[in-house]
Amino acid sequence: MSHAQTGVSALRVSGRTKLVGLLGLPVEHSLSPVMHNAAFAALGLDWVYVPLPVYPDHLGEAVRGLRAMGFAGANVTVPHKQAVLRHLDDIAEDALVIGAVNTIVVRDNDLYGDNTDASGFIAALVEAGFDPRGVYAAVLGAGGAARAVVHALANAGARQICVYNRHVQRAQDLCRDMARFHTDVRFEAHSLDAVCNIDEDTSLLVNATSLGMWPDTESSPWPTDLPIPAHLTVCDLVYRPLETLFLTQARAVGAETIGGLGMLVYQGAAAFEMWTGHSAPVHVMRQACREFLAIADRAEANVTEQQWVS
Ligand code: NDP
Repeated sequence: MSHAQTGVSALRVSGRTKLVGLLGLPVEHSLSPVMHNAAFAALGLDWVYVPLPVYPDHLGEAVRGLRAMGFAGANVTVPHKQAVLRHLDDIAEDALVIGAVNTIVVRDNDLYGDNTDASGFIAALVEAGFDPRGVYAAVLGAGGAARAVVHALANAGARQICVYNRHVQRAQDLCRDMARFHTDVRFEAHSLDAVCNIDEDTSLLVNATSLGMWPDTESSPWPTDLPIPAHLTVCDLVYRPLETLFLTQARAVGAETIGGLGMLVYQGAAAFEMWTGHSAPVHVMRQACREFLAIADRAEANVTEQQWVS
């Protein structure tokens, strides 16, 4: 991996450099190293963010290793966001309700876990001018990201949240878990096949499935032969590509759209602030992600072209 890909200059790293990392598998395609290293550089902080590929059997050792090796913290990604909870000393209430941790902070030798996906999602909505208070929302998906989105919307004052998922049992489990905590919100679970029947009072439609994510860019959670209702604000958590098929379908009917990059940047910004105590340079982080995605897309296009040539 080149310096341009990680955002790290080898010359800058010393024995005083503070370390944070990303625990996941795989971690090669993550934007987080680029985003955080650009932010450290912009603020002149002697910090480095490193990708740490960790197999599930070694997760406990890796998490304890953060403390042993003097790391300031870490992010956690697929497949460890749920499993990591049992290796931590203290966990934020939001992360407990969601059932997933994406940020670890080493505080006074204790391992503290939090989930910044939820606050990152709301920050991206608000930045786009969408007020979630009192809304009826439809969330597609029932995985880790969907759980963060549903909890965040309920916390932000949503009145009704309908969850649509391929495996409907998972949507039912999510709704049951959230209903225990958010007693003033109405939850409904449906099959993803029923997505076209969304309540007409719904104003926000969120894709929290992985449909449309590179390299499967021709798929969408919404049927391609049916128009998305134009009055909806349509949000996609997928950020690669930046313009997914789902967002293209929404734009085609004139619906408002919000892409996944905002959430990615704001969840990273929240983690950055927990580790460093500094305000995150959000614009720098967003620009670093955009540049990385443009380079990755060009590299991918070259590979495809070479395959055609050979
Ligand atoms: P999970 O693996 O936990 O969940 C995946 C979800 O996608 C499940 O609801 C699953 O349904 C659904 N799904 C997968 N394949 C299909 C398919 N072929 N047809 C229908 N549904 C399908 O992943 P996450 O929740 O962690 O992530 C979901 C997406 O959100 C990813 O693309 C991820 O990159 C993105 N994300 C973006 C973030 C951001 O900051 N912008 C932050 C976190 C995630 P089922 O339960 O039926 O299998």
